Amino acid sequence: MNCAKNAPAAPQPLPNLSLEDKNTFGLPAIADLAYEITSPDQLPELIASILKAGVVWRVLGGGSNVVLPSLLAGTTLIMGISGKEIIDSNGQFTLVEVGAGENWHDFVAWTLEQNLPGLENLALIPGTVGAAPIQNIGAYGADVAEYIDSIEAFDSKNQAFVTLSKEDCCFAYRDSYFKQNPERYIVTKVAFKIPKAWKPRLTYADLAKQFSDNPLVSALEVFHAVCKVRSAKLPDPKVIGNAGSFFQNPIVDIAQYENLLAQHPNLVSYPDATGTRKLAAGWLIDQCGLKGYRSGSAGVYEKQALVLVNHGGATANDILELANIIQGKVRERFGVELQIEPNIL
Ligand SMILES: Cc1cc2nc3c(=O)[nH]c(=O)nc-3n(C[C@H](O)[C@H](O)[C@H](O)COP(=O)(O)OP(=O)(O)OC[C@H]3O[C@@H](n4cnc5c(N)ncnc54)[C@H](O)[C@@H]3O)c2cc1C
Repeated sequence: MNCAKNAPAAPQPLPNLSLEDKNTFGLPAIADLAYEITSPDQLPELIASILKAGVVWRVLGGGSNVVLPSLLAGTTLIMGISGKEIIDSNGQFTLVEVGAGENWHDFVAWTLEQNLPGLENLALIPGTVGAAPIQNIGAYGADVAEYIDSIEAFDSKNQAFVTLSKEDCCFAYRDSYFKQNPERYIVTKVAFKIPKAWKPRLTYADLAKQFSDNPLVSALEVFHAVCKVRSAKLPDPKVIGNAGSFFQNPIVDIAQYENLLAQHPNLVSYPDATGTRKLAAGWLIDQCGLKGYRSGSAGVYEKQALVLVNHGGATANDILELANIIQGKVRERFGVELQIEPNIL
């Protein structure tokens, strides 16, 4: 009997790979050399050879939160590890393990098919499961961190697989330990702990309005409502290139918030868990008269000022120049610094 584990096939080198259809902005980009990773076991040898050669590298998931340069030097690892499995269930929670390359929205839909409500407010966020913890994706009052139990990743620094607990991941608003340590970890698997106790989260006006007369709303109804609202508000990347919100909502201390409110009584903001205040970046941009503004082929989406779009033929430079104009106007008018949300690779 041969008890040896079958070694995974070495990933095929993909030289000069076009990433134009692998980033939701639709920016023209060529990867010098790419590999599609379909098994964690492919990583140790590959990373060792990349480090030995001393070339730069990065991971690409669904390309929905990146601004890609026209040429990506070094090695690009395209995450394609699949699989989802319920591994434990008791009276309080269900534990689910998911491969980093699974599509996020499909995973959310699958949890509902398995009668595991909880993630429905995060429906229709593009991208992969492995990227979800990187910026701690969030929408409609929920953050993915709340549902994460642990993360399996390959640590390129120590050239070993590690399992990081939720606490190790240092999750914060659109932030994590992974984001703070770029080019170190490759997330291969995410374990989700989904509580059995469930109640709908309808604090956001769009959802509250729809369900005010339906307190017995189901998770599936919330899921469909979230999909509908998002489809109406956000541009479909297949139609017009974009990376969702281009700026984070700036967090200010209460003194600055009160000062701004005195000058701008219509200021849109939300209370923050840490006692600070989160300003609506889209409102700030809109107030600068920039909704629908165009700079060459890059523009501010006409229905939502927080989203920058590629009207066709834009490059990373066009997008970043436009971002710079917006940051300057918001700084000048409100004294607030806007941070770019997507990763500039
Ligand atoms: C229309 C639209 C709507 C959006 N709405 C939301 C929203 O509501 N909330 C929200 O939070 N985000 C939103 N986003 C942003 C985006 O969908 C998320 O950030 C998503 O998690 C990115 O996943 P991805 O697989 O596309 O990552 P990519 O864009 O491929 O990568 C993003 C970053 O993560 C790194 N990375 C990716 N995979 C791995 C991995 N396995 N291991 C290590 N590093 C990795 C990359 O190197 C890169 O730095 C939206 C984007 C679009 C286009």
